[in-house]
Amino acid sequence: MFFMAVLVMGAASLFGLAADEIKPEEKQIVQEIKFTPVHCFNTPTQKLVIRPDFVGCVIGEDQPLGETEIVEGTDRPEEINPLVLARFLSAQAAAKELGIELSIDSGYRSPEKQNYLYQRAIKTYKSAEEAMKWVLPSDLSRHPWGLALDVNLNHDKSGATWLEANGAAFGLCRVYVNEWWHFEPLTAPGGICPPLLPDASQVK
Ligand SMILES: [Zn+2]
Repeated sequence: MFFMAVLVMGAASLFGLAADEIKPEEKQIVQEIKFTPVHCFNTPTQKLVIRPDFVGCVIGEDQPLGETEIVEGTDRPEEINPLVLARFLSAQAAAKELGIELSIDSGYRSPEKQNYLYQRAIKTYKSAEEAMKWVLPSDLSRHPWGLALDVNLNHDKSGATWLEANGAAFGLCRVYVNEWWHFEPLTAPGGICPPLLPDASQVK
């Protein structure tokens, strides 16, 4: 609908017409052009841009954000999922314009690193059950899938608070009540984040 409205206004201004002067047959043509928006991080301008799907993200200039929740694939990655990274970069650039700093303090972790953190948490919390509220083993955590970001864990918490309030526009959601720093791509850019889970032990 957004792009249809833009097209109507664009056509009207092109021909020097007000929107209500568009002939019925022209409206008919505009209404038949249906397309969905595509979200991209435009590198030169450092901005989130929304393009029609028949244009798509511009190769060499845009990084796509993806248009759905992002889930585990088949192959284990060795870095942050590129769609998730583009979402973060878009949010980081938008926050920066407001003077708010966002940083990824922990993103991708190897399965070995994740299991080390889990074993350490068992020692700290005295039981696996309690440890899993804070650190999941590598087969359950989304950090080794490059799909989880710990934001501003060692920096100003207000950045993560901003991301919690505004992340859905970029497809990033806070996940747990007990972890203000942990974000995942649980919705489409411009979508709605699901309700918070009490803690990580509630996953799966
Ligand atoms: Zn995390």
